[in-house]
Order: sequence, then structure tokens, then C-alpha cells
Amino acid sequence: MVKLTNDIVIDKAKSLGFDLVGFAKVDVLTEEMHNLNKWLSSGYQSGMKYMERNLDKREDVKNILPDAKSVISLATNYYTNENYSNKKDHGKVSRYAWGKDYHLIIWKKLDKLENELKKIDPNFNCKTYVDTGPVMDKVWAKKAGLGWLSKNTNIINKNLGSWIFLSTIITNYEFEYNEQIEDLCGDCTACIDACPTQAIVQPYVVDSNKCISYLTIENKDEISDNFIGKFDNWIFGCDICQDVCPWNIKFSTETSEKSFLQVDGNKEIKLKKILKMEQVEFKKRFENSPIKRSKLKGLKRNADHLKKV
Ligand code: SF4
Ligand code: SF4
Repeated sequence: MVKLTNDIVIDKAKSLGFDLVGFAKVDVLTEEMHNLNKWLSSGYQSGMKYMERNLDKREDVKNILPDAKSVISLATNYYTNENYSNKKDHGKVSRYAWGKDYHLIIWKKLDKLENELKKIDPNFNCKTYVDTGPVMDKVWAKKAGLGWLSKNTNIINKNLGSWIFLSTIITNYEFEYNEQIEDLCGDCTACIDACPTQAIVQPYVVDSNKCISYLTIENKDEISDNFIGKFDNWIFGCDICQDVCPWNIKFSTETSEKSFLQVDGNKEIKLKKILKMEQVEFKKRFENSPIKRSKLKGLKRNADHLKKV
């Protein structure tokens, strides 16, 4: 039996296509929970009731894996060097949803990684997460030195920017731990200034009630007419606060994962097409796409809203 080291994990993860790997010591997230509770009591979670649940697990990963010692944070770059045509009769889709659903891709990679690490040392035990589950993935990415938690509430890596999917491994294994990266947002307020709905209500705080990304994806209600003309033709998600970030403008690099390249013209979709779409076509076209998350009803609502301009 070989003892796992940081280098072994990094090598295995990178060979599976993860771009960044960092290690953090398990700790109770007292300060972060205080911030989360403040955010929740302001109602900024809007309809995302799941954010109010499992707070004990969010605060302490030992409530997920009792003998947890480390958190391994991983990031996968999804940037592809393409832009929008900005045709008025088309709705724009957030960059992360152009290709195949990242959950499907990253879950597979995480499963492989877990199996390979367990083969090396059967004592390695873990719980893995990709953007789901009661885990503060951005906090752990920050603690593991992947980047800093920025004013638009993304993790920014100095060499890749913020076009990254995060995943998290909670493990019973001890590793050497990374230093945290300093916050390099500095005096910049480009994201706050560019947000068309003033959803970044203060640096590092987003009010989901105003955020186009929330309103077009997870939101189950109607979109208020107060937002007419403010959505900049986003039909699924919104990337404005990332598009204007100087770290993305300077450091974004093309992903090596072909599954993130756009499929079926899912970068911009004709509004008329959505409004006429039947459930069978929706299911067929978006079966393996993150776009299925908004459901056909939500996508039609979004198209209707954009048509009101
Ligand atoms: S995603 Fe869009 S609406 Fe939401 S905070 Fe960023 S710029 Fe504002
Ligand atoms: S746009 Fe500026 S303030 Fe916003 S996340 Fe990027 S560096 Fe930070």
C-alpha cells in the first residue's frame, strides 16, 4: 500500500482533465456561516429554499463525513473563445451552458479519480460534490488556494480567470495544505458598475431577487415587468459581471474539454423557436444540456419577457 501524497492526487486529477487542484484543512466555517446567515436573513436567496437547509453540513463538513480531515478543491476551465452575435431576435445563453451538462462530465471524472485513489490506498474515503449538495464550494476553493472570492462572488484564479467549474472532495486523508491567495479585486468595481439590474448590492453580495442568472434559471415565478429592457437579451443565465472582469479579459484560455464547446447552436437561441417549442423537442434538444434546468415553461417565460422590450 502506498500513502497518497499531494503530488499523486494532483497528477491523477490533471490526467483526468482537472485544471486546478488545491488542499485545505478541515475547519468549522464560523465566519462564513455568519455571512451566509446574514445573506439569508436579507432574503437574497429568493426562491432557493435549499440554501436554508442543511446549514450544519455547510458549516462543518464533519456532519457529512465524520472523520473528514481535508477538503480537496478542483476546478475545470470551461472557457471557449467565441462570442455572441447579439441578434435582437435571439436570446443569449450563459457560457457555462453552451455544451454538455458539466455535472455529467465532472461527476464521471470525480468517480474515476476516487476509484484510482482508493486503488492506491483503500483507506482513502471521501464524499464528492459538483455544484450540488450542502457544501460551500467557493469557500473551500478559496481556502485551498485556487483563487480569491471576488466582488461578483466568483472564484478568480490568477492564470485562468473565473470561467471554471468547481468540484469538491471531502476526505478522511491528511495532506499538505495550500496557502490562501490574496484578494486581487483591489479598487476595481467593473462588475458592480456593469450589472444591468444592480444585483451586486455591495461588493461580495449578490441579491438573487435581482440577478438575471437566478431569474432566468432557478426562479419559478413570473419575471417582474420592472426588469423589462434590463436583461440585455439573456434568456438563460447572465455573464455580464464575468465578461467585464479584467482578469477574464486578460487571462481566459481555451478549455481542453471538447464537451464544453457549444452544441446545437445553444449559444444563442431564436426567441420564436422557443415560443413555438413543444415538450418533446425541448427534451430531445436539451436532454444533456444544463438548459434543461429552467424547464420549457421557464424558457418560454424568459423568451416572453425578452419580447416585451
Ligand atoms: S449575473 Fe448578471 S445580473 Fe447577476 S450579478 Fe452578474 S451581471 Fe448582475
Ligand atoms: S470586475 Fe473587478 S471587482 Fe469585479 S470581480 Fe473582476 S476584478 Fe473583482
